[in-house]
Amino acid sequence: MEYRKLGNTGLDVSVIALGCEAFVEDNNNAKLFFDMAEEAGVNYFDLFTSDPDARSAVGEALKGRRDKFIIQSHISSVWKNGQYERSRNLNDVKAAFEDSLERLGTDYIDVGMIHYCDADSDWDAIKANGIVDYAKQLKAEGRIRHIGLSSHNPKVAIRAISEGDIEVLMFSVNYVYDMLPGTENVDDLWADEVYEGGFKNMDPDRQRLYELCEDMGVGITVMKAFAGGDILDDKLSPAGASLTPAQCISYALSRPAVATICSGARNEEQLRESIRYCEASEEEKSFAEAFAAFPRVSWEGHCMYCTHCHPCPANINIADVTKFLNLAVAHNESNGIAEGSDGFRVPETEAMHYKVLEHHASDCLQCGLCETRCPFGVEIRNNMKRAEAIFGY
Ligand code: SF4
Ligand code: SF4
Repeated sequence: MEYRKLGNTGLDVSVIALGCEAFVEDNNNAKLFFDMAEEAGVNYFDLFTSDPDARSAVGEALKGRRDKFIIQSHISSVWKNGQYERSRNLNDVKAAFEDSLERLGTDYIDVGMIHYCDADSDWDAIKANGIVDYAKQLKAEGRIRHIGLSSHNPKVAIRAISEGDIEVLMFSVNYVYDMLPGTENVDDLWADEVYEGGFKNMDPDRQRLYELCEDMGVGITVMKAFAGGDILDDKLSPAGASLTPAQCISYALSRPAVATICSGARNEEQLRESIRYCEASEEEKSFAEAFAAFPRVSWEGHCMYCTHCHPCPANINIADVTKFLNLAVAHNESNGIAEGSDGFRVPETEAMHYKVLEHHASDCLQCGLCETRCPFGVEIRNNMKRAEAIFGY
């Protein structure tokens, strides 16, 4: 298993995590899934549901091994009249949180995730109704260790994160959503008319969101990496061709700030398939050629951080150099400072990350070999010159 830092939380999380779907649909699976997870080194799981039976089944499965798992559980997911609800009523939210601790058999939740906010008006209501303050109080009491937010809308997520309290974002990451502008209704992302003209490159808000999270040390935990299974199917995929699970996971993990993919496996075989990602070859994980061949999608000139241009004769990690270059430029642009202008400054985080690379843009031989391998026509030689000018070496 591979582990990554979850933003600035100090937590090291497995790149594959358990999603919640299995426990919602059949909580008899819980013990088996946790056994499989523990054996594979999976140490993170998401529990958005407030279903008392599912929470109790997970609590039972966790007995004797609470310390082996990092729990991401949702604040403001409540149970009413026999079903799950998203609530902004503080009393209901408090009762549901107490219920989660009791049923999970623990006295703290690692990441208390404010649940499912896709609209500006909803974020206003969350704050006005005292839910953010409640999360802060739980954190001060040590009953949650970190505050999270789950969302599908990049605009709302950017706003919430910019306000400074959110440490972990649960976000829907797959290449289809990534090409579409944010919406207050996630179902809009699958409306037929959205796909009529094909796609070109990533939605700027989504790109900005990933960059902002990386910049601010907000870790991203991913949901919907397979878009509900549609992008695994040639007929259902809006791009007109499918990806494998390993390619979907690899894509989501290539976005800045992403630490783990919550696998919404519904049965044992699906969970095994996600865990198998860690044994997949680099070739199996590579999504670049599949992306380049999609009939209705173009990423021309846009770096996907896919590493398909490697190896470089000067041993430059081209994807990382390009990522730090883009992050530094985006950080300045968000403050109205253009690349090349006097006020341009490299943010400390990017400067540090760039410094520890073994080889830098100044090592570039300008041989152009990388550009013959890049499926997206990225001007890599020019990017190396830009990176050298910005970072100074
Ligand atoms: S330059 Fe091209 S091949 Fe290299 S990481 Fe970026 S998109 Fe992939
Ligand atoms: S042009 Fe520069 S970055 Fe690209 S392969 Fe040659 S040395 Fe490496």
